[in-house]
Amino acid sequence: MKRVKRISTSAFLLTILLGLTSYQMRPYRNHNTFTVVIDAGHGGKHPGTLGKTIKEKDVTLQIALELEKIIKRNSEDNIRLMMTRRSDTYVDLNDRADFSNKNKADLFISIHCNANENKDIHGTETYAMGVHKTEGQIDIMKRENADILKEENYKQKYDGFDPNSEESYILFKLQQHGHLTQSLDLAKRIEKQFDTHAKRTSRGVKQAGFLVLWKTAMPAVLIETGFLSNEKEEKYLTSVEGQQNLASSIYKAVKEYKQTHQR
Ligand SMILES: [Zn+2]
Repeated sequence: MKRVKRISTSAFLLTILLGLTSYQMRPYRNHNTFTVVIDAGHGGKHPGTLGKTIKEKDVTLQIALELEKIIKRNSEDNIRLMMTRRSDTYVDLNDRADFSNKNKADLFISIHCNANENKDIHGTETYAMGVHKTEGQIDIMKRENADILKEENYKQKYDGFDPNSEESYILFKLQQHGHLTQSLDLAKRIEKQFDTHAKRTSRGVKQAGFLVLWKTAMPAVLIETGFLSNEKEEKYLTSVEGQQNLASSIYKAVKEYKQTHQR
């Protein structure tokens, strides 16, 4: 009886010791760690908008990978970066939001490229979830949401949402995103960096109903990094220098946001 007791006491102490050791060996993560999910728009058989020489899905992934490099180089910032995709594959729009929610991300940033029939139009726009104000914004919404048409059972998955029906967008008027103020704050910081750091033409902060932002449970924005329909901007978006400038602008805005909002 005594012997059994002694064994169980030492087993108990051993468990505590192992527990303490594994606690110390856990990767460093305190309340200062800030998780950012970067979502490279489109992918795989969903190319997004087409430039003359490049597809949107490739530009968005290249900018996301540049951003990953910058964040890795600045590990002292304690920013944990997670990506919804790191290769040329398509991820369902609702899975991108689920991924961010499951990983308890502090921010969700979806990267895209714009297009317009008017080839002169150029510049950046950053969107928070909300109600569109212009016809142009309806076109952008329809285009960015159209990927779900090729997803299986999209009607069930998106509660009967039809990207081409304007009535579907009434849904977004009824349901306001829970983190609108913070999303708009992040959007403003991103547009400011595009203007001052990357020297782009900022077309400002806007709101529209993007499905990829809909179910995110944290501040979330969608960035239109430029127009692939504008020849000069397509060249910029294709160049490594352009992609690095856009990525470092997003990084600076995220860092600023983290310093302002993290408790
Ligand atoms: Zn897009």
